[in-house]
Amino acid sequence: MKRLNKILCIALVFGLLFAGLVYAEGEEGDPEAEEPASQELRSDDSLYLWIGLAYGSGAVDKITVKSADGFIIVKGNNNGWKETDITTSATTLTITPSGSQAVLTDPDGNVLLSSMGGGGYVVMSAAEDPEDRLITINGSKYRDGATATVTGGKLNVINVIEIEHYVRGVVANEMGYTYPIEALKAQAISARSYAFRNINKHKTYGIDLCTTQDCQVYRGYVSEHDSTDEACRQTAGKVLTYDGKITESFYYAYSGGATLNSEDVWSAALPYCRGKVDEYYSDYRWAVHYSMDELTQEMVSRGKNIGDVVSVQVTKRHNTGAVAEVTFVGTKGTAKFTKSTILSVLGLKSFMFAINDSQFVWSKDGQAVVTDAKVNVLGANSTGEDLSTVYVIGADGDVVKMPASDVRITNGTQTAMPQGQVSSGWTDDPVKSSVVYIAGSGWGHGVGMPQTSARNMAQLGFGCEEILKYYYEGTEIGDLADFR
Ligand SMILES: [Zn+2]
Repeated sequence: MKRLNKILCIALVFGLLFAGLVYAEGEEGDPEAEEPASQELRSDDSLYLWIGLAYGSGAVDKITVKSADGFIIVKGNNNGWKETDITTSATTLTITPSGSQAVLTDPDGNVLLSSMGGGGYVVMSAAEDPEDRLITINGSKYRDGATATVTGGKLNVINVIEIEHYVRGVVANEMGYTYPIEALKAQAISARSYAFRNINKHKTYGIDLCTTQDCQVYRGYVSEHDSTDEACRQTAGKVLTYDGKITESFYYAYSGGATLNSEDVWSAALPYCRGKVDEYYSDYRWAVHYSMDELTQEMVSRGKNIGDVVSVQVTKRHNTGAVAEVTFVGTKGTAKFTKSTILSVLGLKSFMFAINDSQFVWSKDGQAVVTDAKVNVLGANSTGEDLSTVYVIGADGDVVKMPASDVRITNGTQTAMPQGQVSSGWTDDPVKSSVVYIAGSGWGHGVGMPQTSARNMAQLGFGCEEILKYYYEGTEIGDLADFR
């Protein structure tokens, strides 16, 4: 095998030299230039993803790509690439828009390519070992290659990257790299499965996935850690399957105590994303409050003609306790909201919440809202000392210092200001009837695997397969290679 590799390497070097000579003799990008024999070209049949680093409203005017190993210019798609006969010895290249095309230029101003992404062309690090292929795109380091498409005269910046390399740039952003290895492995398999299922998600821009929570958070080489790399290595090529297909394995941070059916949040009923009580959840508390005016404005902006909002109620829950429906009651009618709209209409972090039935402390400016709070009044005693400042201790243990005059306390039915002594009982406050308090637990859409619960399971000794099968019922671990 070694000997064969050596021969192939020599053949490759000659192939490159030959390609370079031909190019030097021909005119720039001359289509008539003789092509070297294709078997001498490097090719890669791995699965590649087009990741949009900046696109749409974030599109740019210029891209600078650097590679210490130089570049090869390849043509490819999701299923791999082959080297072209276009060569350059430059280690810095520039991409600029021209009409609807992205143009690749070397440092001498020679146009190497007049249509980058649109033509399927990619500048790839010339490093022989795929592990060493590193490039810098507009100052940030990524693995593999770069290209660009043009929308509205601006460049969509694209990192073209092999899927295993991509997953290494995702895991540490989606899950703390200090999490136990079995949780990181569950995350790597979920991320790989999600990526495969979402190829072409942002096709309009010539990209598969973006780098935000809309898809999966990806930051490239800087995100790689030994622990997450190890999780990727141990699960290389592994995906989650259900009924012979790769799953769209959704995940999120905190369940708040229960997961939801996918169709109870969005529309598609995924058989492996079923709502259930989460035995392994960690608490994550949050609280918000709104004036009736704010809620009325929200209804107006959504075209709901229900007059002035007078109350908001939870009118339906799933059997797990997750909220299934909220109803806004107005002076002229009512408006009901279900599924993910519940979160957007009230600006909430999760479906596990209650309205007006928990104890709150909040400041007038809305900056220090805490739930399950204890109020410690500085210097207070039975004779009443300085009560101008209070310390509010949130359920998360954070202490917030604020003027007592800015603090309101409610037990869900009555509201009071800390006048005299906080413990002296509830007094009426006009603010009571005009504010809606909402407190909840959890953070995320509620579908699939809660990452903090995966961590908790791993800490209890569960393996990655057990974790995945607990949150994605009826699934199996399979090989990506079987689906290509
Ligand atoms: Zn996206």
